[in-house]
Amino acid sequence: MEREYLIKPFLTKQYTEISHGKGIYLYDKSGKEYIDGSSGAVTVNIGHGVEEVVTAMKEQAEKVAFVYRSQFTNDSAEQLAEKIASMTPGDLNWTFFVNSGSEATETAMKVAIQYWQEKGMGSKQKIISRWMSYHGITMGALSMSGHPLRRKRFVSLLEDYPIVSPPRGIEHAEELEVAIQQIGAEQVAAFIAEPIVGAAGGALTPPDGYYERIREICDKYNILFIADEVMTGIGRTGKMFAMEHWGIVPDIIALGKGLSSGYTPIAATVVSDRVMAPIIQGSKLIMSGHTFSANPLSSAVALAVLRYMETNDVVAQAKKNGEYLLNCLEKIKEKYAFIEEIRGKGMLLGIEFSPTILNTNIIDVAFEHGLLLYPAVGGIYGKDENCCLVAPPLTITRGEIDELARRLERSFASYERRMD
Ligand code: PLP
Repeated sequence: MEREYLIKPFLTKQYTEISHGKGIYLYDKSGKEYIDGSSGAVTVNIGHGVEEVVTAMKEQAEKVAFVYRSQFTNDSAEQLAEKIASMTPGDLNWTFFVNSGSEATETAMKVAIQYWQEKGMGSKQKIISRWMSYHGITMGALSMSGHPLRRKRFVSLLEDYPIVSPPRGIEHAEELEVAIQQIGAEQVAAFIAEPIVGAAGGALTPPDGYYERIREICDKYNILFIADEVMTGIGRTGKMFAMEHWGIVPDIIALGKGLSSGYTPIAATVVSDRVMAPIIQGSKLIMSGHTFSANPLSSAVALAVLRYMETNDVVAQAKKNGEYLLNCLEKIKEKYAFIEEIRGKGMLLGIEFSPTILNTNIIDVAFEHGLLLYPAVGGIYGKDENCCLVAPPLTITRGEIDELARRLERSFASYERRMD
């Protein structure tokens, strides 16, 4: 065996090499076709190989690919920020660009802490989050993540932030109030949550009323509400932002993944006028940032993605076809005893398996059958980690959903035969 140089996630696994992609399909070097049933890591919202994005990328690269944000601004980043402001609810009108979802949530955390400092309330530094959550892999983002599997190795280095229960019922919203009262509101800067739990919880969707209560509690105790829409944002759940399902306006939103549909790395922290005001009047500087923040190339790509979504009414398509896909999954569930629950919204759907089987084994069988699924693991110890996400590009057609469902069923049938 020749030695390897690339560090891959699983160091001893033999990875298949992809040669190209188009729409919902990926093709490996042997010519095998895969339905990208998970949009990669729930990222490729408009599918692979979209010409308009490739053209925008080329045009921007020819003009200028990089300028440093402390020296210059650029038209693509300015336009992208304005576009995001036109899409977000309430007064969420300011955007800070970063390169990954982890950086977006970590920036959100820093902005929240800075906001209270600028208002003369510097003791408000703690961020409350939930078990069964994932906000990113960097140390700040991991401190906020209620994800035992990913925390374990670094736990002594992480901030000991309070963590409340996953959002299974309205009563779990009340836990936030209890946590705030225990710690003291004067210590708490913000509460962070994924509107619908993604990688840690297999599209676990809170009941109506949960976020309404969360918003009330945050307002009552002077605590900012950060919505981590890295996975759920940009149309994924059938609304541009998942929080719109409940009509709740957060103070800060973190975006990533679908913002560029995976064509280039870009993510964003969107901040309300209210939160920016004391910073603009005070220190006049966000104490964060990265070399590649707001770079013209990624900004132009994200802008092209958002324009494509608008022109092709992609969010409405995700809502309509998401319901169709949910229906297909419900029908499949009836035939297999090892499926416990189907849940989620739009094109972010989760399958929870019974504890008698292992999600990763099913995902491997689906891979053999040319269907990519995303594991939802490790968010909490116990049966909750045994899920997978079905989250194809939002542009998937009805016919393609039928084909996805056929491959899923074939995978389940084949898995069941192997269990016998
Ligand atoms: N937040 C959420 C909700 C996510 O799902 C993820 C990634 O899966 C992140 C943050 C971290 O994003 P990234 O992997 O781009 O750093």
